[in-house]
Amino acid sequence: MKTKEKYDVVIIGGGPNGLGITAYLAKCGLKVCLCEARLEVGGACEGIEPIPGFKIHPHAVINYAAAGPGLEQLELHKYGMRMAWAKVFGAAVTKDQQRCAVGGRWCPQETREGMLTFSEEAAATTGAIYEIMNAPECKEFLRSIFWTPPPPEGVTLEPKDLPWVKAIKKLPMLDQVYDDSWLDMSTMDLCDLLLQEDAQKVGFCLSSLDNGPDPFSKGMGIFGLADTLLMMYAGSSPLGGMHSYMHALMRCALAHGATILTNSKVEEIIVEYGEAKGVELADEAPCRDKVILADKAVISATHVKPTFLELIAPKHLDKGFIQRVKDINLNGGSLFVFNLIVKESPKFKGKGGELVNKCTPLLTAFPVDGREELLNLRRAICVERRHPIKREEAILRCVYLSHADRTLCPPGYQILYNFFSVPPPEYHRDGPEAVNKASDELVALGLEMYRDYCTNMTDDNIVATFVNTPYDSSFRNMGLVGGNFQAIRAGEDEWWVNRPLPELSRYRTPIDKLYLCNQTSHPGGLALMGVPYCLMHILIEDLDLKPGNWWYPSPYYISEREVKAAVV
Ligand SMILES: Cc1cc2nc3c(=O)[nH]c(=O)nc-3n(C[C@H](O)[C@H](O)[C@H](O)COP(=O)(O)OP(=O)(O)OC[C@H]3O[C@@H](n4cnc5c(N)ncnc54)[C@H](O)[C@@H]3O)c2cc1C
Repeated sequence: MKTKEKYDVVIIGGGPNGLGITAYLAKCGLKVCLCEARLEVGGACEGIEPIPGFKIHPHAVINYAAAGPGLEQLELHKYGMRMAWAKVFGAAVTKDQQRCAVGGRWCPQETREGMLTFSEEAAATTGAIYEIMNAPECKEFLRSIFWTPPPPEGVTLEPKDLPWVKAIKKLPMLDQVYDDSWLDMSTMDLCDLLLQEDAQKVGFCLSSLDNGPDPFSKGMGIFGLADTLLMMYAGSSPLGGMHSYMHALMRCALAHGATILTNSKVEEIIVEYGEAKGVELADEAPCRDKVILADKAVISATHVKPTFLELIAPKHLDKGFIQRVKDINLNGGSLFVFNLIVKESPKFKGKGGELVNKCTPLLTAFPVDGREELLNLRRAICVERRHPIKREEAILRCVYLSHADRTLCPPGYQILYNFFSVPPPEYHRDGPEAVNKASDELVALGLEMYRDYCTNMTDDNIVATFVNTPYDSSFRNMGLVGGNFQAIRAGEDEWWVNRPLPELSRYRTPIDKLYLCNQTSHPGGLALMGVPYCLMHILIEDLDLKPGNWWYPSPYYISEREVKAAVV
C-alpha cells in the first residue's frame, strides 16, 4: 500500500527555479518538500567530471542574477555562494581580426581601448553605456523587467504605466531619447537607433539571442537591450561553476527546514474536484511514502508541457487548454555546446585579437562584424530549420571558464566552453537526432574557426572534447524539452502577460492550488531566481504568507486586491 506524507507545499523539480521557491517558502516557515527526479538537484545548472579533476558544464555557465533580489534575500553567501569575478565580461572580434568590441561594467578602460579600434565616435557611445550601467537606476530598470510579475489577467497597462517604461525614464540619457515607438521595435531596431558600429550592434543582438528574444523579433527590443545590460552588469561565473550556486540554494532550503528528495520522479499530480492535493512518486523512488500530500499548494517547477500533458490526467483539464499548451512554441534558445580541455588558452591573431589576449574576457564571440552572419545564422535556424553548416552562418561563442576559477581543472590546463545556436530537436528539418549525428562536423567547424583566428589551437593543444546537444539535454533533464535554455520562444506572443499562456501568466493554473515555477513562466530562462521571486508575490497573497523583514516586493507589482479596490 502507498503510504502518505503531508506537507504545506510540494514542489516538483529541483532546478534553479524549484530550489529557489523551496528556499523562499522554507524561509517563510512553511513545511516544504521538493521532489527531484535526478540523483542531484540543480537542473540545467549542473557540473560533470568526465575526467577526474576536470569539471565540465553541459549547460549553464554564467550567473546573471546579481542585479536581482534573490541572492540577497536568501543570503546565499551564508550558504557557500562565492563568485569567480571576471573583470572583463565580453569581447567580439571582427573577421579581419583587427577590431575588437569589449564590454562589462568593470572594465571602462579596456572597453574604450576596444572601441577605439573602430572609431572615436564608437568609443564615445560606449562611455554613455557606462553611465547608464553605473546609475543606481540601472538595477531598477533590470528589476522592472526580470523581477516584476506580470499584472493580473485582464489588466492592460498603458505604455506610460509599463514597469520598464517608468524605469527607463529614470535612466541617464535614455530618458531623453525614449519614446513609445520603442515598444514596437526589435533589438536590432533599437541598436540601429542607439549605436553606431555594426559590430557593437551585432554584439548586443547576440546577447539578446543567447539570453532572450530573437534580435529581429518586433516588440521585444527593450527586453533584448535589457539582456545585454543584464550580462554586462555583473555577469560572471560562480566559484566551482553554476552547480555550486545550486548547492548554496539547496543548503539554504535545508537550513530553513525543507525536505529534499532526490531520485524521486513525480509521476502524477493528484487532483480532486479541480484542486491539487499532492503528488505521486514513481515506484522506484527510494522514500517510503510514494504519495506526498500538500495542504496549501503544489508547485510545478518543470516545463509547462509535461506539467499539463503528462503529469495531470486529461479529464481534469479543458480540451482547448490542452491544445493551447501543445501549441506553445519551443523555437529559439537551443545550443550545441562543446567543451574543450586545452593546455593553453587560445592566442588570438591581429590587433583585435591582441586585446582579447591581454584582457582575457569571460566570453568571446567571433566573427562579429556586420549583421550578415547574424541574418545567415537566423535564416538557417528559424527558416531552413537546420544547424549551421557553412562558415558564413556560424558565430562561435567561447567562455573562458577556468581563467577566473582555478577550481575547475588542474594547473597547466584550461577549460573552454563553446557554443553555436541550433534549432530545437523537435523542429530540425532532418529529425530530432540531426544535430547529434552532425556533432563531429560542428566541432570541426568550431575548430576550423579557432584555427583561423588563433595561432595555437592545434591538435597537440587540445586534450579532450565533450559535446552536449539540445537532444542530449532533453534526456539528461526531463524539464529541458527542446534542450532550450529559455524553454519556449521569447517572442511577444510568449512573453510577459502571454508567457507561457495568458491564463497562466500569474503562475496560477486552471487547477486550484497548483502553481508554475519554471523557466516557461515569466521572466523566462536563466538562473536569475526571477521566477521564484515573482511567484512569491502571488503566494504571499494566496497563502497569506508573512515573510520577515528580509522580503521586499517589486515596486511595480500589482496585486489582485489593488485591482478589486480600484473597481469598487
Ligand atoms: C545549453 C544551455 C546553456 C545555458 N547557459 C546558461 C547560463 O550561462 N546562465 C544561466 O543563467 N542560464 C543558462 N541556461 C539556462 C538555465 O540553465 C535555465 O534557464 C534554468 O536551468 C531553468 O531552470 P528551471 O528550474 O526552470 O528548470 P530546469 O533547470 O530544467 O530544472 C527542472 C528540474 O525538474 C526536474 N524534473 C523534471 N520533471 C520532473 C518530474 N516529473 N519529477 C521530478 N523532477 C522533475 C528535472 O530533473 C530538473 O532538475 C542555459 C541552458 C542551456 C540548456
